[in-house]
Amino acid sequence: MREAGRIVAFAVRKSFEALEQGITTRELDDIARRAIESEGAVPGFLGLYGFPATACISINEEIVHGIPGDRVVQSGDLVTLDCGAVVDGYNSDLAVTQVAGSSTSAKDDLINTTRESLNKGIEAARPGNRVGDISNAVESYVLPKSYELVREYVGHGIGRNLHEPPQVPNFGPAGQGLVLRPGLVLAIEPMVNVGKWKTRMLDDGWTVVTEDGALSCHFEHTVAITEDGPAVLTVE
Ligand code: MG
Ligand code: MG
Repeated sequence: MREAGRIVAFAVRKSFEALEQGITTRELDDIARRAIESEGAVPGFLGLYGFPATACISINEEIVHGIPGDRVVQSGDLVTLDCGAVVDGYNSDLAVTQVAGSSTSAKDDLINTTRESLNKGIEAARPGNRVGDISNAVESYVLPKSYELVREYVGHGIGRNLHEPPQVPNFGPAGQGLVLRPGLVLAIEPMVNVGKWKTRMLDDGWTVVTEDGALSCHFEHTVAITEDGPAVLTVE
């Protein structure tokens, strides 16, 4: 899983290196697919549940599961790449958000808050803690900043399948849920909205957007629970 994590981190980095005004989301997806295949891994999302691409690419008010295509990236777009790779039957899952071209302090704050909330969740992913301690660590960091957390999509266990139990919500009380033990691997993935938490699915049956059309940001790591604490697998 560490190798699957390394390769997907490489793929997302390569794709983001090409992020600029004028590139299409399909081109970004192609870069990610080629990067994964060049490392001898298999794109984890391609064909899964019928998803037609290597990466979910979600822009601005899109939260998750955006389908790459002819959309042209504009300067100022908030672009989330969510991608997975499979090595020897084991999955990884990584999401990163960046602004194409010139950003604003508001967008930078949203990105920094979401990334830091993921870090808070990761810090809580320790043996003896419970899933709810991760959820509460994320929530306790985000809500005081007047953002809201998506409730209808959550993190998850990961291994031979991309999505395995337990669910890992980004909200809720501490001290509840499954006890974390070494060997468990989780995808922790806060989705932070500038507006309300409610979501809506587009007619394509995949793309999830904020109901109020406000911006959303998403970061995710695949994290192993070890005797020594959390180990982030989705890094180069
Ligand atoms: Mg993901
Ligand atoms: Mg995930």
